[in-house]
Amino acid sequence: MREDSATCFFPSSEIVLFLFPLIHYTFVNLFPERLKFLLHRSIAMATEAILQRLITNPERLKDLVDKAKDVALQSGMVIRTKEKPNSSEVVTYYPFSLFPTPVPKAAFLQALAVQTHFNTLVDKISQDPDFLEEALASTIQADDFTAKLFDIYRHVQQEGRTQPIVVGLLRSDYMLDQGECRTSSLKQIEINTISVAGFGVIDRVPEVHRYLRTCNSVFIIGLTLFNQGNCKSFCRAVILFLFEDVQTSIINHRCMEKELCNRNIPVIRRKFEDVSRRGSLDDDKKLFVDGLEVAVVYYRTGYMPNHYTEQAWDARLMMERSLAVKLPDIGTQLAGTKKVQQVLSKPGVLEKFFPDQPRVVERIRATFAGLYTLDMGLEGDKTVEMALAAPDQFVLKPQREGGGNNIYGSDICQVLQQVKESTERTAYILMDKIQPTPVQNYMLRRDFPLQISNCDSELGVFGVYVRQGKDTVMNECVGHLLRTKSSEVSEGGLTTGICVVDSPLLL
Ligand code: ADP
Ligand code: MG
Repeated sequence: MREDSATCFFPSSEIVLFLFPLIHYTFVNLFPERLKFLLHRSIAMATEAILQRLITNPERLKDLVDKAKDVALQSGMVIRTKEKPNSSEVVTYYPFSLFPTPVPKAAFLQALAVQTHFNTLVDKISQDPDFLEEALASTIQADDFTAKLFDIYRHVQQEGRTQPIVVGLLRSDYMLDQGECRTSSLKQIEINTISVAGFGVIDRVPEVHRYLRTCNSVFIIGLTLFNQGNCKSFCRAVILFLFEDVQTSIINHRCMEKELCNRNIPVIRRKFEDVSRRGSLDDDKKLFVDGLEVAVVYYRTGYMPNHYTEQAWDARLMMERSLAVKLPDIGTQLAGTKKVQQVLSKPGVLEKFFPDQPRVVERIRATFAGLYTLDMGLEGDKTVEMALAAPDQFVLKPQREGGGNNIYGSDICQVLQQVKESTERTAYILMDKIQPTPVQNYMLRRDFPLQISNCDSELGVFGVYVRQGKDTVMNECVGHLLRTKSSEVSEGGLTTGICVVDSPLLL
C-alpha cells in the first residue's frame, strides 16, 4: 500500500481525531469530570478501531512494524543483545511500543509538578540520621543488604562528611489507578534514587512515534507527543561511571558521556573491582583511581546484593568516605528504600519534613497508594491478616531494586505463612496493588511474536537537585519516561526485557 493512501485507510477514526482539539477544548474547559471521562473513552475507542483494522490487515501491520524497527535503528534507538551484552559488534533495536499510550494530561502534569517536592523530600531524608535509623530499625534486623548499606551510612555520619556538595538524580514511578467511580488517579510505585535508568537512546521514542504518525496519518492528530531531550539535563558534573559486569545498557551511558565530553568533562569507566584494586584516598580524602582524581562517582551499579563482593563493600565505603561527590550518596540510596516509602505514608511523617507547607504535604500524599507495615506488633499482624484474606489486592515487597523481586497473588500467602511469626517478615512491606485500565498496543521486542496485547504503562518522572551545604543550587524536574508491559505480567523492569519504552499521548 502506498503511503499517501494511508489517509483513506482509516477515514472514520481520522475524522474523530481531527476534531479532537475542538472537542477537547469544549469538554475539558467547559464540562465537568464525567464528560472528560467520556471524551477519553471516545479517543480510546477510536485508537482501538485503528488497532482492530491493523489486526485484520496483516500486510499493512507488517509494513508498519518493519518501518518502525528501521526508524528506531536509524534514530539510534539501539541496545546490545542479551547474548553478547559486552560487545557492540551486534546490536538490536531498543524494545518499544508501536503506538504511543494515551495518558490523561492532568495526571501527567501532576506527576511533573510534584517532582521538585520529592527531590526536596529525598534530600531532607538523606540528611536525617535519626529518621533513617528509626525508619529502618526493623528492616536492618531482617535484611542483610540494607543493614550493610546502613553500616556504611553510620560510619560516614560518625566520621563526619567532608564533601558539602550533594547531587541527586531521581526517578519517581507512577501508575494510573482506576478508581470505582471510573476516574483514574496517579499513584506512586516507588522512587528510584540510585542507578536511575531511562534516558539516552530512549529519548528518541517520540521521534519514532512521530514518524509512524506520518506513515499512518491517523492516530495522534491533535494530541500532544512529547520530545524531551532528557539526557542533556543530566550531564552536568559526572566523572567516574561505576558500572556492572553486564553492559547491555552501555549505549545509553554513552549518550551521557557524549554530553559530558561536549563540556570537556572527562569520564572514566570502572568497576567496583577496579576501585578496590587501584583506588585510594589521600590525607585530604581525595579519591584517586589509576592515578586520576575523581570529582564525582556516578553509580550505575551497587543497588543489588549480587553487585557486591567483600572487596566491593570495602570500595563502596572508601568512596563514601571520600571527598568525591557521590551520585547518590549512601543516605540518598537509603532514602529510596521501600521501607522508607512505607514509613512516609504514616500520618504526620510528611508534616515533619514540611512543617509549614500543608499544600506540599497534600500534593505528595495525593500520590501515595496504601502502604502497610509488617513490623512485629498489632499493626503488622493486621497487615498479615489483610493480605492473607485478599492477596490479589496487594503487592508484597522486599527491600530490593532492579525488578522481579516483588510477590503477588497466592505467592503472598505462601511467603507470609512462612514468615508471619518471625522478624523475617519485617524485611517486607505490603502495598495496595494499582489497577490500571489496560490499553491495547503492539510491543516490538526482538524474538517475540508480534501480537496485540492488553498493556499497562508506568510513567517515570526524573528529578535532579544539587545542594551545597545548606543552599539548594538546583531543584528541577527534567523529563519523563513511559514504560509499557503486558497486563498479564506483574512487573517489567527496563533491564528485564519484559517491558518496552513508549511515549505518552496526552489527552
Ligand atoms: P523495583 O525496585 O524492583 O523496580 P518496584 O516497586 O518498582 O520495584 O516494582 C517493580 C514493578 O512491579 C513495577 O515496575 C510495576 O510494574 C510492578 N508494581 C510494583 N508495585 C506495584 C503496585 N503497587 N501495583 C501494581 N504493580 C506494581
Ligand atoms: Mg521500579
